[in-house]
Amino acid sequence: MDASVSNSSHDETSTSTSAAVGAVHKVTPTPTKISSLQHLNNLLPNLSSTLQERIVHCPWKCHVSTALQSFVLYLPTVNLRMEHNPSFALACSLANAWHVPVIVLAVVGCQTRSGMSQLQQQKKERLDATVMTARRLAFTMEALQECCSLWSNHGAAVFVRVHGNSSSRAMEHLSLAVKASAVVLDEAFVRPYSSLVEQVEGACRNASRVCYRVDGSTTVPPCSILKRCVDSESGKYVYSGIPDRAWKWNKMTQGGRERHLDAALCSEFDAPTLLCPVNVSSRKSLFEANLLHRYLPSSWVMDTDEVVSKPLLCSDLNEIPCFKKWAVNFCGDDKDSPHPCKHTTGNYSSGMSRWSQWLDRGGLKDYARTRNDPKKPHSPSRMSCYLNLGIVSIFRLISDMDKIGEADKNHCSGIEKYKEEILKWREYSYAHTLCRNDYDKISCLPGWARRYLSSNKAEYCIYDYTINEMIGGCTGDDTWDAMQKYLVSTGELHNNVRMTWGKTVMHWGIAQSKDPAISLAELVYLNDRFALDGLSPPSYGGILWCYGWGDKPAKDGSISIKYASRYKCSATDFVTAEKILIEEASSRKFLDIRSMLLSRANGQRSVAVNKRRRHTSPISQRKERTLHNFFAKATR
Ligand SMILES: Cc1cc2nc3c(=O)[nH]c(=O)nc-3n(C[C@H](O)[C@H](O)[C@H](O)COP(=O)(O)OP(=O)(O)OC[C@H]3O[C@@H](n4cnc5c(N)ncnc54)[C@H](O)[C@@H]3O)c2cc1C
Repeated sequence: MDASVSNSSHDETSTSTSAAVGAVHKVTPTPTKISSLQHLNNLLPNLSSTLQERIVHCPWKCHVSTALQSFVLYLPTVNLRMEHNPSFALACSLANAWHVPVIVLAVVGCQTRSGMSQLQQQKKERLDATVMTARRLAFTMEALQECCSLWSNHGAAVFVRVHGNSSSRAMEHLSLAVKASAVVLDEAFVRPYSSLVEQVEGACRNASRVCYRVDGSTTVPPCSILKRCVDSESGKYVYSGIPDRAWKWNKMTQGGRERHLDAALCSEFDAPTLLCPVNVSSRKSLFEANLLHRYLPSSWVMDTDEVVSKPLLCSDLNEIPCFKKWAVNFCGDDKDSPHPCKHTTGNYSSGMSRWSQWLDRGGLKDYARTRNDPKKPHSPSRMSCYLNLGIVSIFRLISDMDKIGEADKNHCSGIEKYKEEILKWREYSYAHTLCRNDYDKISCLPGWARRYLSSNKAEYCIYDYTINEMIGGCTGDDTWDAMQKYLVSTGELHNNVRMTWGKTVMHWGIAQSKDPAISLAELVYLNDRFALDGLSPPSYGGILWCYGWGDKPAKDGSISIKYASRYKCSATDFVTAEKILIEEASSRKFLDIRSMLLSRANGQRSVAVNKRRRHTSPISQRKERTLHNFFAKATR
């Protein structure tokens, strides 16, 4: 079946598409190539504009097959959720247009930052070390266990491939990609996730297959705002037009934000019911899923007990009792791999529970006042690790805040400040990484900062720490060491501490007359390897900020200063804060104020809505229904 049959548009290319479709029964149909944008418009003419704005079409022309379609492949990387996942929504919409199933294959690799295998990495720099540590692997697998079940219950055929080392690296994602009718990828922004995306795109380009990247990470997708053109050398898209300050980006995107938030709440980023659901939740059902047999790698469908060469199914994931233990065994080769974080579980339920508890203890209300006190480790929301892998929906958090703000004006200052972080700074960093391939390098810094770093005007000291001394927190700077030990032990670093922790390394770099590129690389290494929320656009935005990015020079032209040795907390304070963090995280009971406030907001809204109802359009009525369902769920 070829859904381009349904195309009724009259442009030149679609005429040729129709001609090709009309030629289905001829002996030698002429292959037709059209742009992926036209392909999508032909297939899904009613796709909402907000979802369209999130989609980046591959820049090459693709074959429009006149044969039966096979399946749609979704390769998730940073949108590990069911709710408000525009990538999964697009994959399901395409599959429905062709009446074919969706295959989801999550590829989890023990990659290094640059996307190299462990073997390649051993020959290279230490600073490119493995970032899929036991800590991150456990967290990622916990997220996948939950969302894979949801994708599977929705009717997709779901597989998870975990790559241990180079010898077990199967390239099934590539062989599946070239057999798929279309491939959907998350817009991943940073390596190693974006390396996987580029690898798949390369395979699709060679086979003239269509693939789409979809942004599910930001409220207003930077791909819809920035200027885009195709680089003549690489054939890839390059973006430009990002302003030099976060506030300017915030201003540029503000206009579209409400539209995208409304779209999320109106379920425009939720997957439609699948017309061709399949059940491969267990090995037995996989064997019976004849429909997919001819497309899947033969080793996957062989009815043997040998699991080694097969990807994990939902049933396999559900049989793993503890991903934290499993991940430690899995990463056995990486002896120094940071241990999984006992106090953090990487799934949607745990993320939303953390969010509710934070609201419950007045976190949002008091955010403007208390967020900068590291002795209160629960004063910030600690949501970054969930946001960065797309485990919780950014739309959910923002809409919760808006509803709470409507219900209780005492939250206004907290909400304003929180939005400054989660929208202004966070989304600016996403735009930055989309624009720059060198997003974690000195070359991204403004001219004044680069000039300052190379002029070496800063005060000189005698420190010369090795990376191992820094990792272990053995530099002799007691406060910095305490910060580092806290990071290694908990996988977190308080928002306010992080700035001083990072700037101190920058100062050390200057003091040692080190090439600033090296001190920057060291900082990136420490952050990505130990922080659970590392390896994300805000990681590089935050680190570069320590070197002057997004900032203005001090009066003397220098980068603003923050020394750990002058920090407001002592080394002992960090030990106490760690205890509070771990103990409270495990013992806290909560009232779920989020539900209470949301239901209050709902009550207020329903009076207003009743007054308005007679004048509302069908779309706003649908929105109200969605909100109603959402609040009903929240208050259960
Ligand atoms: C040296 C350095 C390294 C950093 N590394 C990371 C990192 O690896 N991953 C990461 O997500 N953030 C990083 N940041 C940014 C910021 O420190 C963290 O986002 C924040 O501490 C996360 O904790 P939280 O969720 O409790 O934040 P909250 O204070 O509760 O803020 C809410 C959300 O807003 C966003 N946010 C807050 N501050 C920033 C910021 N400065 N830039 C961008 N987004 C922000 C985060 O998504 C965060 O979850 C870094 C900052 C610095 C200075």
